Amino acid sequence: VLTIDGVWKNFHGHHVLRGVDLEVHSHEVVCLIGASGSGKSTLLRCVNLLETVDDGVITLEGREITDPRVDVDDVRKRIGTVFQAYNLFPHMSVLDNVTLAPRQVHGASREQAEQQAHDLLARFGLADRARAYPDQLSGGQQQRVAIIRALATQPRLMLLDEVTSALDPVLVREVLGVIRELKETGMTMILTTHEMSFCRDIADTVCFLDDGVLLEKGPPEKIFTDPEHRRTREFLHTVL
Ligand code: ATP
Ligand code: MG
Repeated sequence: VLTIDGVWKNFHGHHVLRGVDLEVHSHEVVCLIGASGSGKSTLLRCVNLLETVDDGVITLEGREITDPRVDVDDVRKRIGTVFQAYNLFPHMSVLDNVTLAPRQVHGASREQAEQQAHDLLARFGLADRARAYPDQLSGGQQQRVAIIRALATQPRLMLLDEVTSALDPVLVREVLGVIRELKETGMTMILTTHEMSFCRDIADTVCFLDDGVLLEKGPPEKIFTDPEHRRTREFLHTVL
């Protein structure tokens, strides 16, 4: 689905990504781990074109999206993104939050969009919250709505950047349940997390970013029990 090839990114002369290569296959769940500042969020932001890369190529479903002539909105239609701070529109109900993009960006009718939204809300246990406003929901519910909103455009790829880190432990579990369910439906995902147990549980492939270098990648069993690099071992030692 996605190929990242030799991607470099610097901010004010500081290299934040240094030649990152990564292939993500259909239905694959890739988890990015690494210290704060290692470049995880920046890599996700390059994929959905919130940042432009300095060098390298990213392709989505065979089309180069780092080509400056590419239609950014068209690319974002195919990528669902959820960040740490759920950015629901506070003045809109849950239903309106979820149906906005399908209607405005994808041209769905109100009826179609609402039907789909109700289906999604029911699937993720929020059927009775459709008319609520974001400030009437718990943090975990808000984050689930943010995920549902991203799903409503039927993306080919989901990017989830620390979607649980603003939540307390009980709410974390609800949101992780949603992500697990997404995996079961075969959604292709790249996520970042500081929750190593979750990463281990859900990832097909774990990537360790060390100061902008994708130092090591492999199945969780390998990375968590028998990493190749000293830096990976040191990182895991500090977080486990
Ligand atoms: P965390 O685990 O804390 O979320 P991260 O791995 O996601 O960290 P990034 O947010 O990708 O790290 O940041 C990588 C580096 O790039 C950091 O040193 C950060 O300060 C810098 N950086 C990120 N975005 C910008 C920006 N827009 N302008 C300048 N520097 C930036
Ligand atoms: Mg980050």
